[in-house]
Amino acid sequence: MRRNRLLLTAVFGPYGIKNRYAESLGMQMELLNNQITRMQGVHSPRQAYWTFPLYLLAENISVETTVLDFPSWRDFKKELARGYTHVGINFIVPNVLKAKRMAEYVRAHYPDTKIILGGYGTIIPDLQDYVPHDALCKGEGVRWLRAYFGEDTEAPVKHPALRSPAYAYLYGAKGRPSGAILMPGVGCENGCKFCITSHQFNKQYHSLLPTGEDMFNACVKIESELNERGFTILDENFLKQSRRAQDLLAVMTERGKPYVFDIFSSAEVIKKFGADFLVRLGVRMIWVGVESKHNDHDKTRGIDLKKLFAELQSKGISVNASTILFHDHHDRKTILEDIDYVIGLGSDFIQFMNYTPLAGTQLYRELDAENRLKDIPYRHQHGAGELFFTHPHINDRRDHVRYLRNAFRKKYLKDGPGVLNLGITAIRGYQSALEGHRKRQAEGMTWDQEALRYVKSATPASDRFMELRLKMMKRIAENARPMLVPAWVFAPNRRQRLKARLAMTMYREVLGPSDFKQRMISAVLVVTGAVEKVRILLSSIIGREGVVHQPHSRIERYPERVPMQEHDSIRDQAVVSRPINDVLQASYRSAEEQAGN
Ligand code: SF4
Repeated sequence: MRRNRLLLTAVFGPYGIKNRYAESLGMQMELLNNQITRMQGVHSPRQAYWTFPLYLLAENISVETTVLDFPSWRDFKKELARGYTHVGINFIVPNVLKAKRMAEYVRAHYPDTKIILGGYGTIIPDLQDYVPHDALCKGEGVRWLRAYFGEDTEAPVKHPALRSPAYAYLYGAKGRPSGAILMPGVGCENGCKFCITSHQFNKQYHSLLPTGEDMFNACVKIESELNERGFTILDENFLKQSRRAQDLLAVMTERGKPYVFDIFSSAEVIKKFGADFLVRLGVRMIWVGVESKHNDHDKTRGIDLKKLFAELQSKGISVNASTILFHDHHDRKTILEDIDYVIGLGSDFIQFMNYTPLAGTQLYRELDAENRLKDIPYRHQHGAGELFFTHPHINDRRDHVRYLRNAFRKKYLKDGPGVLNLGITAIRGYQSALEGHRKRQAEGMTWDQEALRYVKSATPASDRFMELRLKMMKRIAENARPMLVPAWVFAPNRRQRLKARLAMTMYREVLGPSDFKQRMISAVLVVTGAVEKVRILLSSIIGREGVVHQPHSRIERYPERVPMQEHDSIRDQAVVSRPINDVLQASYRSAEEQAGN
């Protein structure tokens, strides 16, 4: 009998370029530029994220497996020729035609090879008519794949050591990607009616790293392999598993390891934990769902979001608020009111996204029952274009594109570049944490792990962990500092120029004058930023919203993990600054997942 050999692959490139298989708008393999810092031109950090689940799956089965990430069509064909019994294709809904081409090619040239489809694309109701396949990987993928190959589904999950992003540019300068990802679990119990990540897992949470100790051990492993201490936690609602988050902080404190995290969490759990806990935990950026000022979600009900965000930011935690446009209650007046409302919350970043009824969600079922779903090709279902349901008030597709684009533009003009906001939050947080620490030490206060606050202690001791945390916070602020100069030079208006100057003053007061290295990095970013501005202009002449970057293809073979193919090429590239990327590693979320948390 032929030994099983599995190829796990992402869809083929190029990405973000309109062709026979996919659209351009909203379809770059980027999060920030696609849906958070869109319309911020040269200030928009550019990062693409690897297809993380493929590595997790490969790490956790004993079948000989190859991961092929961001392949070209040629890479895909070449890899198939090595001979596989199974091919797993991961895709999202708007990439269905790419998955179709790949699956049809496999059927035509390797008829004995089984095709497994995975990813959010598998929610397509009539998928069988589009993409030939033998199995659909649904639900939590590790257990599913182990069961498929007859392996132990309950064996402990091994976490891959994965550096991300695939590429990183800031003000046109290419940097060395840094930061790592953690995938502690999938699904969310909150069940917001539009949320595919919750409905995909039947409104249940599935742990991959169930305890704080498990998470800590994964961090230690990744640090030892990649020398990374900053992690993006890919968990829809990380703080919802309260005990695990508390235990993670307890273990970090006990071992004296202050890792740094970017997380997704809903407002009600953030409020429950409080900003002091999050500072100690090392949360640098938090993604919070706002959705709409009229929303009736439990997660935001009764919470003063403006106050909550202001408190988080004052303590050094950058906030990315996410919100949905084209709710049913939005007409031409109220949609603008909602946009103003969310901008008025003063977060560092905002994700705007058009309301997207994905199959499997309650929203989809409701609209289906009301006969309001429109027959829009799947390739257009990415959340940045035409609505694929009949809206009660706004039904011109040009409006769907325009309101969204204008919302991003409005945020940019009012609050300035996201990277500037991030820099301001970092220095304010460091200053306030330092002052707070000194005051508490003087007053004999200590951290109470269970009460989640500082309390007066009969036996006060030096807060060694907070001292380590302060060093990390200082480094985060120092790393953000070089961005202030290009943020000032390329500011969109007088108000933002002034904001950048005030930020520079704040940094000088807290940290003293910039050092030589920081000044050099700023100078380089101004030069590369000027070149990037020209490139953006040229791109607009050929009808693109900005410069389109393509990630490198990457191959890894398991169980004997072969060094990453793309490493050599990355080493050869001009490396401007690792610190630049340290402050910019950001959480990945596909357009599919909409305005979560
Ligand atoms: S939108 Fe956020 S809080 Fe709501 S179900 Fe999804 S992940 Fe959970």
